[in-house]
Formats: sequence, structure tokens, C-alpha cells
Amino acid sequence: MPARDAFVDLVLGGRCAGCDRPGVTLCDGCRGLLTRLTPFRAWPDPRPPGLPPPTASAPYADEVRRLVIAHKENARYALARPLGGVLATAVSSALGKRDGAWLCPVPSARATVRQRGHDPLRRITKAAVRALRRQGIDARIADALRVVRRPDDQAGLSAQRRTANLDGAFALRSRWAETLTDQPVVLVDDVITTGSTLAEACRALEIGGIPVLGCAVLAATRRYSASGS
Ligand SMILES: [Zn+2]
Repeated sequence: MPARDAFVDLVLGGRCAGCDRPGVTLCDGCRGLLTRLTPFRAWPDPRPPGLPPPTASAPYADEVRRLVIAHKENARYALARPLGGVLATAVSSALGKRDGAWLCPVPSARATVRQRGHDPLRRITKAAVRALRRQGIDARIADALRVVRRPDDQAGLSAQRRTANLDGAFALRSRWAETLTDQPVVLVDDVITTGSTLAEACRALEIGGIPVLGCAVLAATRRYSASGS
């Protein structure tokens, strides 16, 4: 456990970030829950054009939702490893029989990272890479996208407006173009809602000549349609 979390536990008396039970940052019950997730196809309804098949490890609710928020907003860094395991579950399902892939996280604007004091998705993606490598999957992180233009807050926008708001938000970092040519690339994010952010990130890679195999996310909001593949 990183010193900061140990310190927070000591001062605040310590509570599980998933279920609020007094004790450590992640109780055994919640930890066990994270290892028993069944990944599923999480197509948003409606599907944004150009979205590669999305795989999620869990619905964005209850313990998983609280853990994602505690890590992202409250800097409970000790959660990065278990959440990385959750993302690894989705990636491994998205890969099927393939034995390797580049994981490309949807980038955050620099100002957002500064505000939060860390880059939660990048931290989780690195933990997912380590988890996958322990399973014998040749996973690597590809910081291949950058934020060109910081979009307005997506909350409260319709799916159509989200797409317009995101148009041209991301671009491929040119030094990655050669590395990723003909390589399996999976886009990763923490949560899928309308899928418009992932679709736009995919578009930026494809404009750069990099096809995307699929998307893997920790969790999907309940807007997804269970039908179809
Ligand atoms: Zn718990």
C-alpha cells in the first residue's frame, strides 16, 4: 500500500472505498467481487458511427462505480492495481485468442490531469498491462493519442451533440504511427456511456492509419443494449 493511502487510512480511520466498511482501502469482499466479473459486449444505444466493438468488465454501478470514483477523484492510488485487474479482464476478453496488444488509453487534457493531480486512466492502464503480462499476454501501453482541443463538459449533452463537441478533439502522436502499423491496438477507457469519446479516439487513430481492434473499459453505464454483438 502506498504511503499516502496508509496515511489516509490512519487519519480517517480507514474505510473500504467500495462499500464504506471500516478497515482498509479495499476490503476482502470487494476485492473478491472484482475477480469474479464476467466481461460483456457493451454497445451503447444508439451506437455512435465508427465505434469498434466495446467490451466492459462490469456495469457502472455500486462498488465498481465507487471504486472508480475514489481512485479518480480522491486519489486512492492503492486502487490502481485492482482496477487494472478489472480492465485487464475486459482487454483479455476483447483479445479473444490473440496473445498480445497495444493498449491505447483515451487521453485526458493536461489541465484535467493538473487539476486532479494525477492521470487515473494511465495509472490503471499501466496496472492492466502488468496484470496481462502476468497472464502471459504481451501487452504494452501506447500513449499514441493527444488532446488537440479540450472539449466542453460532455455531461448533459445528447449523443449527437457529444459527437459534434468531440470532433477533432484527439490526434495521433506522429512518432507512434510507425510503431503501431499492423499491430493489434485496443483503445481503453474507464467508463463507456454514449461511446462518443471512444469513437472519436478511434477516428483519430484511423486517420493516422492505425486500425483499432476493439475497445475495453472497466465499466459501462446502463444505457448499453444487451442485444447484438
Ligand atoms: Zn468493500
